[in-house]
Amino acid sequence: MNSVRASAPQLADITPYDPKYLPARAYLSANENPCDVETEVRNEIKREINKVAFNRYPDPLANELRDMIAEANGLDRDCVLVGNGGDELLFDIALAWGGPGRKFLNMPPTFSVYQNNAELTNTEVVDIPRLADYTIDEEAVLSRVARGDIDYVIVTSPNNPTGDLADERFILRLLDATDALVMVDEAYFEFSRGTVRPYLAQHKNLVILRTFSKAFSLAGVRVGYLLGNPEVIREFLKVRQPYSVDAVSQAIARVVFRNRAKFERGIMQIVSERGRVFRELSQMPGITAYPSNANYILFRAEGAGEVWQQLYDRGILVRDFSRAPMLQDCLRVSIGSPEENDEFLAALREILPK
Ligand code: PMP
Repeated sequence: MNSVRASAPQLADITPYDPKYLPARAYLSANENPCDVETEVRNEIKREINKVAFNRYPDPLANELRDMIAEANGLDRDCVLVGNGGDELLFDIALAWGGPGRKFLNMPPTFSVYQNNAELTNTEVVDIPRLADYTIDEEAVLSRVARGDIDYVIVTSPNNPTGDLADERFILRLLDATDALVMVDEAYFEFSRGTVRPYLAQHKNLVILRTFSKAFSLAGVRVGYLLGNPEVIREFLKVRQPYSVDAVSQAIARVVFRNRAKFERGIMQIVSERGRVFRELSQMPGITAYPSNANYILFRAEGAGEVWQQLYDRGILVRDFSRAPMLQDCLRVSIGSPEENDEFLAALREILPK
């Protein structure tokens, strides 16, 4: 047959996720870590990969890595689940808690993957937009969940792309106000140290998402994990792909996790550079920069689409949100190496009207 029947109807309005990664000199668009894994750790990784049996399936649950993460967090193995990047686990929450007739509470503007996953699984998206300063509309969220029909909520802290931390007291109130599954997406938590992990013991409806992609420089390797109560983790086990984390990624993540103290210096440098970039951005005429707890800064500039193009023409790739809902005239710059940050700031000064 030289024709094909239409795909599932919920795909009609979905555009494939596009990170808009274009060739550039300074990659400041994807919130990656500017430092690759250092030589000593890389050498240990090589030795570990050499031991991997490529002809065998990997441990489906990555139990060795799972145990390391559990121990570091004072939890049991069955409170941890490793996934193929945080992205896989974000799809799994929609599979396990979403579906036809079910509702996901979203707080846009935030990570667009949440909404896509809900749409793919025919889950209704209930939007509670953020306030003008991009903080969460806490009272609106609390009163909406009080209606009792929300199945899952994702609180992103720090939020992508706006950079703000969710107030811990708000998360506690939310956990107490609903039996919906509340995922706190802490993909960037190492850049702020704010975590709700201590609340896991008292709140069955809390699950935390973390990743190796940002603070631990492994965006190219694809490992993320969940911390949650065993009852919740068990439901994720039902929907996950059997061998989603390959043996090589498991080996790399184990070495990196074992050496995680060595990443502290890089994290501190990003945090200090974030302060510098924020201060300099805030002093530029016509720029509004939003305070950030992550490894990127959202800023507003008049004619942002043109500013993006002029930065790109100078070899600097940032993320263009200027046409995204609620983010008009906004660009997001990842914190790069000090030299990349200098280059970005100098280019922006050159581009902006005097
Ligand atoms: N959550 C947020 C808020 C993110 O920004 C990202 C990455 N862009 C992820 C989760 C997923 O990251 P990864 O799949 O690389 O672990």
